[in-house]
Amino acid sequence: MPGFEWIDNRELEAVKEIFDDGGVLFAHGWDSSRKRYHVRELEDQTSRYFGTSYSNAVSSGTAAIKVALKAMGVKKGEKVLTQAFNFIATIEAILDCGAEPIICPVDDNLHLDLQAVDKLCDQHDLKAIIIVHMLGMGGPIQDLLKLSEKRNVPVLEDNCESIGASCNGKLLGSLAPCGVLSMDHGKMITSGEGGIVLSQKESIFSYVRSFSDHGHAYDPNLPRGLDPRVMPGFNYRLTEIQAAIAKVQLTKLPEMLKSNFERYSLLSNKISTKFRERKELPGHEGSYDTYIFFVSEKQKEFILSLIAKEGFSTKNLPDAMQWHCSYFWSHALPDSEIEASVSTFEHLSKAIAIPIFGKVSLEKYEKLANTIVDNVA
Ligand SMILES: *Cc1c(COP(=O)(O)O)cnc(C)c1O
Repeated sequence: MPGFEWIDNRELEAVKEIFDDGGVLFAHGWDSSRKRYHVRELEDQTSRYFGTSYSNAVSSGTAAIKVALKAMGVKKGEKVLTQAFNFIATIEAILDCGAEPIICPVDDNLHLDLQAVDKLCDQHDLKAIIIVHMLGMGGPIQDLLKLSEKRNVPVLEDNCESIGASCNGKLLGSLAPCGVLSMDHGKMITSGEGGIVLSQKESIFSYVRSFSDHGHAYDPNLPRGLDPRVMPGFNYRLTEIQAAIAKVQLTKLPEMLKSNFERYSLLSNKISTKFRERKELPGHEGSYDTYIFFVSEKQKEFILSLIAKEGFSTKNLPDAMQWHCSYFWSHALPDSEIEASVSTFEHLSKAIAIPIFGKVSLEKYEKLANTIVDNVA
């Protein structure tokens, strides 16, 4: 997740421009003291890039999930499905809506298990399904959208972790009626903190716009202060500085993806001759910021030591597995959902995740791949 690697003078210049233009750091109003509206420009740029009708910037990816769920009509006491290989943000967002998380396992390629989703639709009255495109690869979004239609349960795409990945040429986050991106410091594009709600529906966009800005009605023709309030909302606004940085980062995304893919392919070509690797679904292209392969319990410690010796971490798996598997989240989930996470925990326990840094040389990745392949029987 390498957006921070690509920060250079261009982001700095973009911030400086705000101060040269009058120094308005707020996304709304102060019309006579400013030349541009960076948050609004970021939203337009994002809609064009992702091919969505609407984008609304918010203060974080977690806020984006929460506001999106509210816009989809999720209310207190209702149930929302999400997956066991995940980040806690989706569960926190569900809980913050007063709703109940229902955990669904992933398959042995670490993608959302649709047979299990179908069963859970029989067992529970679900209000929404959150698919999470984890660690640079998309989940089965097209088949899930078919299931969603059959079951009449809407889908939210959490694409905080695979920004730039696509399915049949369409960017993930734009396929469901609503999708979210994160721009925190670990993500593909970063503004330090920040999130975006992508949507094809005006009703979702206008709810998100209003809720994340204290309930201000969305009416571009009314000056700030004269726009009526339509609901009690909250402050989940992004600042102009964050937006100016994110605009530059988004222009760098194609170059980041290319660089990731070169490194990913190199690891894949070599390591997959000896180990089972995480498979990409047909029609998908990842953001390739993580290479995942599966090993036996016996080989695991030795391979981890080889990777460490080559100067790489094993980010997420196994290092930060507790951050990515709901099996460990008894502070937030009832026993039934911890139980539902066991098979995912078992799949993840066999996985090793090598982080891809687009600015680390191909030679270093080649040496790493050779070391693993040559030293493991
Ligand atoms: C990072 C992340 C989030 C939350 O984003 P923040 O901007 O850090 O709040 C949500 N979901 C997933 C899958 C993430 O990786």
